Amino acid sequence: KRRIGVLTSGGDAPGMNGAVRAIVRMAIHYECEAFAIYEGYDGLVKGGDMIRPMAWEDVRGFLSEGGTLIGTARCKEFMERPGRLQAAKNMIAKGIDALIIVGGDGSLTGADIFRAEWPGLLEELVASNELSEQDVQPFKHLNIVGLVGSIDNDLSMTDATIGCYTSLTRICEAVDSVDTTATSHQRAFIIEVMGRHCGWLALMTGVATGADFIFIPENPPPATWKEDMCDVIKKHRAMGKRKTIVIIAEGALDQELNKISPNMVKDVLSTEAGLDTRVTTLGHVQRGGTPCSYDRMLSTLQGVDAVRAVLECTPETPSPVICIVENKIVRRPLMEAVAQTKEVATAIKDRDFEKAMRLRDAE
Ligand code: ADP
Repeated sequence: KRRIGVLTSGGDAPGMNGAVRAIVRMAIHYECEAFAIYEGYDGLVKGGDMIRPMAWEDVRGFLSEGGTLIGTARCKEFMERPGRLQAAKNMIAKGIDALIIVGGDGSLTGADIFRAEWPGLLEELVASNELSEQDVQPFKHLNIVGLVGSIDNDLSMTDATIGCYTSLTRICEAVDSVDTTATSHQRAFIIEVMGRHCGWLALMTGVATGADFIFIPENPPPATWKEDMCDVIKKHRAMGKRKTIVIIAEGALDQELNKISPNMVKDVLSTEAGLDTRVTTLGHVQRGGTPCSYDRMLSTLQGVDAVRAVLECTPETPSPVICIVENKIVRRPLMEAVAQTKEVATAIKDRDFEKAMRLRDAE
C-alpha cells in the first residue's frame, strides 16, 4: 500500500483542515495509507510520534474548523540539509514516499528542494550505515504535491488560495461593524488589513465595502497622495456621505518605497481633511475562525486532486501545485508558480510598479 503524508506549514489559514480531511479520506478511498505529520516540517524532522497514521474517522469534523488541527510551525532545521536528512530518515522509517504540503510559497519551496535532494539524501543515509540499500530501495523517488494555504491570496497562477475568502469575509464583517460608529459620528476610520507583498485583501475589501481610498503595495500612490486622498474624501463628503473608510494593506508603500502607516494617514485626515479619525488594526482576527463555504469547497476539491496527483505523477513530472483557474481545479508546476510570485515582490523592490500590476493582472 502506498503511504502518503500530509502536513500544514507556514502561517495557518482557514480551510487547511478541509484539505487534510479530503487528503486523508481520498488516500483511504484509493487504498493508500494516510499519515498526518504534526507541527509542519518540525514533525518531519522530529519523526516518531509526530507522524501518525490517520483513519477515516480521525478527520471527522475537520471541515468546519478554522486554523490547522495538525499544527503548523516555522522550522529552522528543515532550512538546512542535516534537518532534511533527518526528515528523509524519519519518512523511510514510516514507509512514506509522498508528501502533500499545505502552506505558503516558503513551505512549497522547501518541499521542492527536499524532493530534488532526495536521492542524494538516501545515498548519504546508506553511506553512513544509518539505513541499508534494501531499506531505501522501494523509496527511490519522493513525490511532492503542494496546496496553497494563505489568507493573502499571494501565490501566482491560481485565482484563489485556501483561506483568502474566509479572511475577506471576516474583514468585511469588521468593516461593517466599524461603519456603524463611523456613520453615527461622521468619523473616518483607517483599517489596516494583512498583506505584506500582496494587496488582494485590501483591494477586494475596498470593492466589497465601498471604501473611499485604499493603499496596496503593488500600486503605490504618487507623491501627491495626501492631497489626492483628501480631494476624493472631501468630494464624497460633499455628496452627503457621513463616513470615511480607508483600507491600508500592512505592506503599503509610497513610490519611494517608504512605508505608509495607518497613523500617517490618520494625521493627514485629521489635520488636512479635518475629520475625527480613528485607526483599527484587525490583526489576527482576520485569520481566525470558521472557514467560509468557498474555502471548504476549495480545500476539499484541491485535496481530492492532490491525492490523484500523487498517484499520477511520474518521477519526471515537475512537482505540481493544485490551483483553481476560472473555476477549474488545475495543476501547475510548483516552482514556476513560486518563481512568478517572487517576481512580483522583486518588481516592487525595483520600483517597477507597472510590471507588478501586470503580473497581478495576469493572475
Ligand atoms: P510560508 O509557507 O507561509 O511561506 P515560511 O516561508 O515561513 O511560510 O516557510 C515555512 C517553513 O517552510 C519554514 O519554517 C521552513 O521550515 C520551510 N521552508 C521555507 N523556505 C524553505 C527553503 N528555502 N528551504 C527549506 N525549507 C524551507
